[in-house]
Amino acid sequence: MVNSVVSYRRVGRVGVITVDYPPVNAVGLAVRAGLVAALAQGVEDADAAVLLLVAAGRTFMAGADIREFGKPHQPPILPEVIAAFDACPKTIVASIHGTALGGGLEIAMACHYRVALRSAKLGMPEVKLGLMPGSGGTQRLPRLIGPTRALDMILSGDPVSAAQALADGLIDAVDDGEAALAVGLRVAERACAEDWPAHPTSGRTDRITGIDPALFTAQRTALDKRAPHLFSPQRCVDAVEAAVTLPFAEGVARERALFLACMESPQRAGLIHAFFAEREVAKVPGLPANTPKRDVRTVAVIGAGTMGGGIAMCFANAGFPVRLLDTGAGALDRGVQAIGRIYEASAQKGKLTAEQVDARMALIHPTLSYDDLCDADLVIEAAFENMEVKRRIFAELDRVCKAGAILATNTSTLDINAIADATRRPQDVVGMHFFSPANVMKLLENVRGERTAEDVVATVMDLARRIGKVGVLVGVCYGFVGNRILHQRGREVMTLVDEGATPEQADRVLTAFGFPLGHFAMTDLAGVDVGWRIREQRRASGDPEAQAVNWLDRLAEQGRFGQKTGAGVYRYEPGSRNPLPDPAVEALIAEDRAQRGLTPRPVSDDEIRDRCLYAMVNEAAKILEEGIAARPVDIDAIWLHGYGFPAHRGGLLFWADQVGLPVIAKAIEGYHTTLGGAHWALSPLLRRLADEGRGFCDL
Ligand code: NAD
Repeated sequence: MVNSVVSYRRVGRVGVITVDYPPVNAVGLAVRAGLVAALAQGVEDADAAVLLLVAAGRTFMAGADIREFGKPHQPPILPEVIAAFDACPKTIVASIHGTALGGGLEIAMACHYRVALRSAKLGMPEVKLGLMPGSGGTQRLPRLIGPTRALDMILSGDPVSAAQALADGLIDAVDDGEAALAVGLRVAERACAEDWPAHPTSGRTDRITGIDPALFTAQRTALDKRAPHLFSPQRCVDAVEAAVTLPFAEGVARERALFLACMESPQRAGLIHAFFAEREVAKVPGLPANTPKRDVRTVAVIGAGTMGGGIAMCFANAGFPVRLLDTGAGALDRGVQAIGRIYEASAQKGKLTAEQVDARMALIHPTLSYDDLCDADLVIEAAFENMEVKRRIFAELDRVCKAGAILATNTSTLDINAIADATRRPQDVVGMHFFSPANVMKLLENVRGERTAEDVVATVMDLARRIGKVGVLVGVCYGFVGNRILHQRGREVMTLVDEGATPEQADRVLTAFGFPLGHFAMTDLAGVDVGWRIREQRRASGDPEAQAVNWLDRLAEQGRFGQKTGAGVYRYEPGSRNPLPDPAVEALIAEDRAQRGLTPRPVSDDEIRDRCLYAMVNEAAKILEEGIAARPVDIDAIWLHGYGFPAHRGGLLFWADQVGLPVIAKAIEGYHTTLGGAHWALSPLLRRLADEGRGFCDL
C-alpha cells in the first residue's frame, strides 16, 4: 500500500497502480498524494517495464471529491499529479471502467495509452458546475480528438460512450472484457512485448495543426445565443483556442488562469448550489431514509386530458403499465391519440425508436370503467379542476381500489384535505402536482395532506426519482409553493404595467436576469385563457380577493389566448414562437389605464427586477414560516426545475442571500409604505434573518 487509498504492486513486468477510494474513486487529497507516490515507486521499480493505472470498485476515477468543492485544494494539486504522469519516463497505460469524468479523465489523458471496457463512459462535466477542466484537460483533449470534438465534449458536459471515444481518438482500444484490471494487464503485457514507447499526449500536435480560427468565432457566437448569461462556456472556448495557438506549457498556464477566473465567478457557487439542491430535496427532514415504501408496480390515471396524458407518458416511459380512464370514449380516444402523436414526434426527431414507441403505447391501457382500477397500486387523478368532480372521483376510488393503494390528485389549487375527506382512507391520499407539459417538466411537487401516511410520502418521493423527476415535498395551501410564488410575480408585473412599464420591457428585464422566458411570454405559452378562466370562476364564486377584470381578461375575451391562437400579449407570425410587440395590446393597456385614472410614468429596469424578485422572496419566506416548504433549498429547487429560474444564480433564496437580506428587507418595507398592500408586509422570518445578519442558507 502506498497510502490508505492507492496501492502499488507488480504483476510480471507490469507495475500496477490501483486507486481504491469508494464509492467513486473521487480525486481527493489522499488519492492525489497516493498517485504521486505510487508513480514514483513504479518508476523506481527496476523490474517494472510498463506501468498500469486502474481503479477498484465500480468505476474509474469519476471526478473531483465533492467534499473539497469550493475550498482551496491542498498539495499536491491535480495539475502537479498530472504533470508527473505525463512526464513519466516509463510507458503508462490506463484501463478505464465505469465512468472517467473530469479530473479522472484528465489523469487518464496524461497516461500514454488508454483502453476502456465497452460499458465505460468518458466526459468533462465541469461546465455544468460553472467550471472548466483545469488540469490540462482543455489542452490534452484537443491534442487527442481535435478542437471541434473537444469543444463538443467540454461545452456539453455530457459523457461519451467508449465506442465514441475510440472513434474520436480519445482512447486507443475498447475491450469486451469484464474486469478493468485483467484487460489493462493484457494491454500492458502487449506494450512490454512490443516495446510501445512512452508517448506523452502533451507532445502531440497532429490533431491541432492547420485549424481554421473561424471555428472559435462560430462557437462564441453560438454561445452568445444559446447561453448568453454563462461565464464558463466562453472560457472553455478560450482555453481550447489556446491549445491550438500556444505551445503546450503556455496553453496550460492560460487554462489555469481561465480556470481560476471561473472558480472566482459567483456563477460557480450558484451552479454548484443548484446541482446539490436537486439531490438535497430528495432527503425529507423528519422522514428517515429507511421509512418503508409501498410497492408500486401498476398505475392508473383519471382524466385523459393535457395533464393526464402527460402523466401517463411519464410512467409508461419508466416502464410502468398504466390504465388511463376518462368519462367518455371520445375524450379517451383523443387523449390516447394525443399521446401517440407526441411519441411519433419524438421518433421523428430520432429520440425514440419505432420499437420504443410501440412498447410505450402498449403499456397504456385506456378504459372507461373504474372496476379496471381495482388492482392499481397508485391512482393519479387529473380530471377537471372542480372540487365536486374530484370528491365524486375519490369516493368512487375509495369504493373500487384495493386496500393500501395510493390515491393521488394533480390538483393545482384545491384543498387536498377536503379531497381526502371524500374517502374513508385519508392516510392514502396525497397530492402529486405535475407541471405542464408533464412528460417534459422535471418538477413534481408532492403535497402532503394533514393525514397523509409517512410511507405514502416516502413512496411518492421515491417514485419521483424513478420517473426521472425532481420531487419536492410541500404542504397544502392555495397554489402550493411554485404557483403561489408565481402569483406574486404576476401581480407585481401587472402593477408595473399599470404604472407605465410595457410587457416587453418587463419581459426583457426578466430574460436579462436569466429566465428563459419573460412573464408575459410565459403567459402566452401557457395560455392567456388559463388565468382568465380561474379568475372568472373566482369572480363567479364571489371571491373577495378575485381582482377586477384586467387587460389580460380583455385579451382572453377577444380570443387572444396566446401562442395557440397566434396572438395573446404578443402577436406571432404563422408557425413562429417569436413574440412580437403588438400596438393593439399597447392601445388596450393605455385604454385600461385611462379608465382607471392611472397616469403612466417611466419605470426603470432596476425597479422592475427588484419589485418582481423581492415580492417572490417575501412570499417564499412566508411559505417557510408556515412550514409549507421545509427548507429554502426546496423552494430553490422548485423554481429551478419548474419555472426556469437561472441555475447560475443558484436559486431564488440562494440569490437573495447573495443580494443580502438587509437590502431586500429594507426595499420591501419601502414598497409597503409607498405601494401598500398586505402582500408587501415584510415576512417576520425575513425581518429576523436580516436583523441577525443571517441568510436563508443559515436556516
Ligand atoms: P383537461 O381539461 O385537459 O383534461 C381533463 C380531462 O379529465 C378531460 O379529458 C375530461 O374528459 C376528464 N374528466 C373530467 N371529469 C372526469 C371524471 N369525472 N372522470 C374521469 N375523467 C374526467 O385538464 P388538464 O389541464 O389536464 O387539468 C387536469 C388537472 O390537472 C386539473 O386538476 C388541473 O388543475 C391540474 N393541472 C393542470 C395543469 C396545466 O397546466 N394544465 C398543471 C398542473 C395541474
